[in-house]
Amino acid sequence: MRISNIVPDSGHAKRYDLHSHSLFSDGTLTPSELVRRAHAAGVEVLALTDHDVTDGLDEAQTAAGQCGISVIAGVEISVTWKNQTLHIVGLNIDPDHSGLQQGLARLRKFREWRAEEIGRRLEKKKIDGAYAGAARLAKGTIIARTHFARFLVEQGYVRGFSQAFRQFLSRGKPGFVPGQWATLEEAVQWIVTAGGQAAVAHPARYKLSAGKMHQMLSEFHDCGGEAIEVVSGSHTPEANLHFAGISREYKFLASAGSDYHGPEQTWMDLGKLPSLPEGCTPVWRDWTQYENTARQALA
Ligand code: AMP
Ligand code: MN
Ligand code: MN
Ligand code: MN
Repeated sequence: MRISNIVPDSGHAKRYDLHSHSLFSDGTLTPSELVRRAHAAGVEVLALTDHDVTDGLDEAQTAAGQCGISVIAGVEISVTWKNQTLHIVGLNIDPDHSGLQQGLARLRKFREWRAEEIGRRLEKKKIDGAYAGAARLAKGTIIARTHFARFLVEQGYVRGFSQAFRQFLSRGKPGFVPGQWATLEEAVQWIVTAGGQAAVAHPARYKLSAGKMHQMLSEFHDCGGEAIEVVSGSHTPEANLHFAGISREYKFLASAGSDYHGPEQTWMDLGKLPSLPEGCTPVWRDWTQYENTARQALA
């Protein structure tokens, strides 16, 4: 590649969406459908970040090469930290890295057991066939609580997703099984050894006191975490501003992602993410080499 082909990106109005799901985890679109929809919505750089699995990346990158959007290889890793579930996004990972894949395989094994256990617990509440139903709705490699929520809606046990989580699937509810996910350190290690950058996903979603948030971010930083999602589709505008301040204070790079799961999702469509607030250093500041891959493929 000639250096002159590299598009300088600081200040460039490219639209980045660095958090999205396909039906390989709990999204509803195929990777190709997701990529084409993102392109049509004006997204120029999309990261596919399925939960604990990277199987959709090949298809996403092939589709990206055909329409001229850049797809960043990503993953969203489930973590248990002090009894809480956190999500750590890995960006620009090498999906063929064996350490990363072994780690993800362990999490998927736990997921499979957990799905059966959720089924058993719901059965005690006179909800039959939940495991089979969730497995039928899961078209990819993993079963998530999202698939149980869809099953509960489909069978008329609840009116909608949020009721399914509120009544059955959240912590303390009959179908809740505590996570035994990766440690924070493991997740960051897997990402970093696979050549990627680790980012704390949607930090405003965690129920952490200011002190615990500080402790978590400090540990994340100490084990090699570089970024936090300042702008998230599941944040309020106030939360985006709050975490912009946090990113400056801790010298984290700032990421932005819609957490798109498909057209049924109501909270944020593709192409609608606000820009990073002033003073943030974008996680993509050195990314031209990855972003040009799709353009080169087209040339
Ligand atoms: P899991 O990783 O299997 O525990 O499932 C977590 C997924 O469930 C998240 O990634 C979201 O997609 C979804 N989810 C969690 N809480 C809610 C909620 N209150 N309403 C809708 N979806 C939710
Ligand atoms: Mn999800
Ligand atoms: Mn998440
Ligand atoms: Mn997500």
